[in-house]
Amino acid sequence: MADRRFEELLERNQRSLGNYQAPPLLQNIVEMKPESGAICIITCADARVNPDEFLGLTRGEALVIRNAGGRAADALRSLEVMGSIAPIDLIVVVHHTDCGGLFTNDDEIRSKLCDRAPAHASTITDKWFGTFQSIGLDESIGEDVEAIRQWPFLPVEAQVVGYAYELETGSLRKVVPGKDLRK
Ligand SMILES: [Zn+2]
Repeated sequence: MADRRFEELLERNQRSLGNYQAPPLLQNIVEMKPESGAICIITCADARVNPDEFLGLTRGEALVIRNAGGRAADALRSLEVMGSIAPIDLIVVVHHTDCGGLFTNDDEIRSKLCDRAPAHASTITDKWFGTFQSIGLDESIGEDVEAIRQWPFLPVEAQVVGYAYELETGSLRKVVPGKDLRK
């Protein structure tokens, strides 16, 4: 059943090939040494939260890292890799209203996983799942902006800011502004 649904998506891919234009190769982009570094958006993997759509991104315009909740801890490995290939000078944390992370908590997730694989329960006793029911939306954004600012591999020139994406209206609300880097 699930396979059949993906078949439909593959057909859409086939239909789109007539208009396909390949982007510049990574090697060429890196050699061009653009004056400014990349913008990187870290946001939730929720299917309703599509930065291409709510930021009107064109292809190649921003790096996007998506995971459950748009949490920084999950994104750091990707930032480490991508920031080593080409500079990143703005990181934007975007969490959203009506997020699944607001409707559950780490204990609930732990308990469901333990039911599924009881033999492995001890491996997740202290695991952090990044839900934010207990702290709420704005605080989770603040926590992640701070976590990235404290991240030892953050390039000195990189700004980190935080926004809430309001699903009800489609608008972005600034939660954590950038810091004046000249200070
Ligand atoms: Zn979400």
